[in-house]
Amino acid sequence: MRKPIIAGNWKLYKTISEAVEFVSELKGKVSGVTDIDIVVCPPFTAVSKAADALRGSNIKVGAQDAHWEEEGAFTGEIAPSMLKEAGCSYVIIGHSERRAMFGETNQTVNKKLKAVLKTGLIPIVCVGEKLEEREKGITKDIVKNQVQGSLQGLKKEEMMNVVIAYEPVWAIGTGKTATPEQAQEVHAYIRELLSDLFDAELSAAVRIQYGGSIKPDNIKSLMSKKDIDGGLVGGASLKVESFEKLVKYQEE
Ligand code: PEP
Repeated sequence: MRKPIIAGNWKLYKTISEAVEFVSELKGKVSGVTDIDIVVCPPFTAVSKAADALRGSNIKVGAQDAHWEEEGAFTGEIAPSMLKEAGCSYVIIGHSERRAMFGETNQTVNKKLKAVLKTGLIPIVCVGEKLEEREKGITKDIVKNQVQGSLQGLKKEEMMNVVIAYEPVWAIGTGKTATPEQAQEVHAYIRELLSDLFDAELSAAVRIQYGGSIKPDNIKSLMSKKDIDGGLVGGASLKVESFEKLVKYQEE
């Protein structure tokens, strides 16, 4: 049985004080939720204070990226162990914004993934096609390339701790959500890929989130699909009210 996971990717939003205010309010509202893993991913600067405010609650903190080296002359980078000490449990890796704007490739995703796993953090690895790739009918080729390239050399035991986020780039921040059927088709395909790369047991165990304009009014239909195990949410995770509704989608 895969436990659903709903994670808020705050991107470049919220100062430290805004983050603390947000999580302090949220934790009281979702304290009764036990059947969903809840994660918020603030900017680096707010990770530590958000984690302090959430200690003892059912909400975990994630980061939005990490470097693959533990230390060295890498100006501007943050190591997985630093994130762990700051209170992180999860790290998003390979978000399409990083792939598009900051030179992230399958190779760098793979290196980061291995470093994050070594530190004992849970990686959320993002894959997904661009609009022109979907229109050309090559969605599966793109996703296959990203899944195979990103997960290269991982052992089954390591892969058991990985979360995958299928995020069609054309759906991120655009208000154009993939239909539940479109998302389910790719999620099922990712499970096929995992089965080929590892085995059926692993494929059935790995959680695959959908991401791309998830809102309180569309999450339930997405979550009704058998291979969709949660959401990676940008815009709708920035307000306590809407994030609470997402986490409590079963009650809506
Ligand atoms: C995201 O940032 O990963 C995302 C899916 O954003 P949004 O929900 O705003 O589309």
